[in-house]
Amino acid sequence: MDLSRRDFLKIAATAGGAAVATNSVVKTVLALGKRPVSLPQYIPTTCEMCFWRCGAIAKVVDGKVVKLDGNPIHPNSRGKLCARGHGGIGLLYDQDRLKTPLINTGAKAEGKFKKVSWDEALGYIADKMQKIKEKYGPESIALLTHGSISTYFIHLLQAFGSPNFAFPSFALCRGARDTAFEITFGEAVGNPERIDIQNSKVIVLIGSHLGENAHNSQCQEFAEAVGKGATVIVLDPRFSTAAGKAKYWLPIKPATDLAILLAWINIIINEGLYDKDYVARYTLGFNELAQAVKEYTPQWAEKETDIPATLIIETARVLGKNKPNVLIHPGRHTAWYSDNVQRQRAIAILVALLGAYGRPGGIYLSPKKKLEPVFLSEKDYPEHKPELNKGNYPFAGDEGLTHVIVKATLTEQPYPIKAWFITGTNIMKAMPNQKDTIKALEKLDLVVAVDIMPYDGVMLADVVLPECTYLERHDDFFVVKERALGVSLRQPVVQPMYETKPGWWIAKELGKRLGLEDYFPWNTLEEFLKTKAQIWGVDYSELVKKGYIEIPESSKPYLLPDENYKFKTPSGKIELYSQELKRHGFDPIPKYTKHEQPPEGWFRLIYGRAPVHTFSRTINNPSLWELMEENVAWINTKVAKKIGLNHGEYIVLVNQDGIKSNKVKAKVTERIRPDCIYLVHGFGSTSRFLRRAYLRGADDQQLITRYAVDPIAGTVGMRVNFVKITKEV
Ligand code: SF4
Repeated sequence: MDLSRRDFLKIAATAGGAAVATNSVVKTVLALGKRPVSLPQYIPTTCEMCFWRCGAIAKVVDGKVVKLDGNPIHPNSRGKLCARGHGGIGLLYDQDRLKTPLINTGAKAEGKFKKVSWDEALGYIADKMQKIKEKYGPESIALLTHGSISTYFIHLLQAFGSPNFAFPSFALCRGARDTAFEITFGEAVGNPERIDIQNSKVIVLIGSHLGENAHNSQCQEFAEAVGKGATVIVLDPRFSTAAGKAKYWLPIKPATDLAILLAWINIIINEGLYDKDYVARYTLGFNELAQAVKEYTPQWAEKETDIPATLIIETARVLGKNKPNVLIHPGRHTAWYSDNVQRQRAIAILVALLGAYGRPGGIYLSPKKKLEPVFLSEKDYPEHKPELNKGNYPFAGDEGLTHVIVKATLTEQPYPIKAWFITGTNIMKAMPNQKDTIKALEKLDLVVAVDIMPYDGVMLADVVLPECTYLERHDDFFVVKERALGVSLRQPVVQPMYETKPGWWIAKELGKRLGLEDYFPWNTLEEFLKTKAQIWGVDYSELVKKGYIEIPESSKPYLLPDENYKFKTPSGKIELYSQELKRHGFDPIPKYTKHEQPPEGWFRLIYGRAPVHTFSRTINNPSLWELMEENVAWINTKVAKKIGLNHGEYIVLVNQDGIKSNKVKAKVTERIRPDCIYLVHGFGSTSRFLRRAYLRGADDQQLITRYAVDPIAGTVGMRVNFVKITKEV
């Protein structure tokens, strides 16, 4: 007989106190001849199985995490975790975790490692960094980064004198969207996006796979909205899970989304379906817009998109009639072609015409209060050479461009890059053209990777440093900027396993060896967090107990009737016509660009997500691997019939540059257009250290040898690769 939690609680209640209860339980268990166990602890923290950062509560028994649940007071989780969130235990106890620091003793990127102490590893890195600095300057050290660890390593690199860091999540993912919304509304849509799905009457998803991207609170709200009868319109060459909930599935020809957006704008203006008061009060450039979209008729769009003009008109009227409670989802991975910012601009303009920004069911306003930044130290960073990233891409923002760092490494222009730090990102799955990445790695004098798991990109480094998981460490606060402003705490729920260390500790210890200890004027990160909480007027001890605290009276999601709201654009208005774009030589209103279509016998490679995985980061997780061990290639039924391919048969994909994928099973389905092949991203790991995931499934990134750079923000469009099917496995 096992003692359940209920039994513990009963015993505790009878004994009349926790301390007494524990003794009673121990005695009772001993009397029953069982191993003594302690009462479970329930510790709130913040999930990092993906970037959504839900509030989680860990149930810990005898120093082991036995369950993870959603924190009911946290807006990102609302009491629930997704499958990956529950799978955090699988990450913690994965036997394949990095356990000690490693130094490569073989040829460059050979992955022949010896175990070393932290002291040896950090000493080795510091010594190499100093030599590189003396010869080439501090700016020759660059950082490619993602996740919570970024804070400490950006700080360390800047203290060292380098401005060169880049987040793949900007160039390859949300950069185009954020740039377009900043140009139009003066601010990005946030992360998580400030979208009011639960109150939407119409939800438009443009290549956005809600449900397959298990963005927790957004999926919950989507289900609620569908339950309340919202009309869903999905533009996607693939019948996605969300398309299964849609009234309108528009299987659009890939690379033509901007055509339908411009046609919708045209119809909404022509038929007077836009929000006239809102447009007059809040926007600039309506007349220029009306003039510019005249040529984009529904009949023209039909020829471009394969969607009948009647359906384009019907859906435009659905949008217009339900304004302003319409959500045109701004998407997340928006780097598709060379005109990503203009496509996202068209989305932003449509949102404005429908009066849906700052209105129920659309995009809500950011919180009305701010928490001022509190930095890891007050000390100024040294002067440095100009950063690499800004030059050619005037709207690139502050998050850097990974492809610019790769190029500078290969060409040594405008100055040499001689070392990379890679923290929290698997560069082999987060950047296009793996050949260039490998070439760049081979040129570098030093490559340091800091991560939890031995991913492909990590094991190409010269030095590998094992970070502990989010369940074993503190991190800087997460400021939640949704309907209200809030602070979310990550705190350890168990002690770090093996010789792993938190990212903040690694940066601080390396800083010490580089003579930068003044930039880390605290002993532990928790000491810094307590100070920060005090400055913000947040009760740290309450945060420790609850995991999340909302800042009172910070919420103002909607515009008031007739409010004279000032947008954060240069004009204070929503800029349908952008003077800023014009000033830099770009189209001030989006114009349609035609993109190359696959030749006969070839298919456009498209890719996306599965709800149980966060790309390559979870493919070895024992709990999640059981749910999905490998990806499959979606192929249209007619195509399969033509080439005699059976469902479940293994195939190989070959791209336009002759690059071959691993073997992958064919999923023969009506749910995809005949001109596309679809893969879930992140599989096909080449790291033999990931024993479950090694060579399972096909790596879409390997096939993405071509990419198209958006001249406005430098984002990297990756849906420009074509593949053929071969049965030669
Ligand atoms: S969406 Fe899932 S994986 Fe991501 S933070 Fe939330 S629970 Fe964790």
